[in-house]
Amino acid sequence: SDHQLIYPPSPDQMDWSSLFPHYVVDEPQDQQTPAPETSTSQDLAPLKVKRISKDVEVADIGCGFGGLLIALAPTMPDTLILGLEIRVSVTHFVEDRIKALRAQNDEAKLYRNVGVLRANTMKFLPNFFRKGQLSKIFICFPDPHFKARKHKQRIVSTTLNSEYAYVLRPGGIVYTITDVPNLHEWMVQHFDAHPSFERVPEEEQEADPCVAIMRTETEEGKKVERHKGEKHVALFRRLEDPAW
Ligand code: SAM
Repeated sequence: SDHQLIYPPSPDQMDWSSLFPHYVVDEPQDQQTPAPETSTSQDLAPLKVKRISKDVEVADIGCGFGGLLIALAPTMPDTLILGLEIRVSVTHFVEDRIKALRAQNDEAKLYRNVGVLRANTMKFLPNFFRKGQLSKIFICFPDPHFKARKHKQRIVSTTLNSEYAYVLRPGGIVYTITDVPNLHEWMVQHFDAHPSFERVPEEEQEADPCVAIMRTETEEGKKVERHKGEKHVALFRRLEDPAW
């Protein structure tokens, strides 16, 4: 349950260094945590986190076994990509997968830009990301929660769309895909109704290389392929906030 989930009080206090160790920046000596003998009130000292040289810009909400993350990583080698997943064992699986790929591709320096974090994205998204930090959010084959009384557990809703709008920069894109027609309609309705988003036209959608990756490289996408199921895709652009 949530009390076992670790999340920072604010994005500034998030320590990304263990997820993206190759991006850690050396800070000048005087900014580091003082050595115990020189520290007077250590318990009260502000928490120091190791800084990294870039911010995460791409988030995969409910990343599952990480197929999308792994496929995206080499296509945008200078962008930090983060998968968020609520299941502990699945998160560990993706961590191991990334570790192995980094080791195998050490010389090429691949997969250093991708990481995974255990999180409940329905609750703590603004704890991890600043306003406008992200350029892309992927919501691939989210759990359908078919029954009406379960709809509040869907990860697309009016409230959650406002959180996606908060962490996404103007011009940023939410990518959605599902094999459940009713869920597709639900997602389209909720994003269309939200003042911060507009639907990306189909032509532009189909020209976006991320869309092909999302269709073919997610584990769920592969499963749907095997069953010859349909895949419904919709993209939404984060609009500028109106000038007041
Ligand atoms: N996106 C992956 C794919 O396309 O292969 C996985 C899709 S799977 C059907 C949905 C995933 O979302 C599951 O791995 C589930 O554990 C995760 N999930 C569900 N609710 C979540 C939440 N609130 N926060 C983070 N992950 C969540």
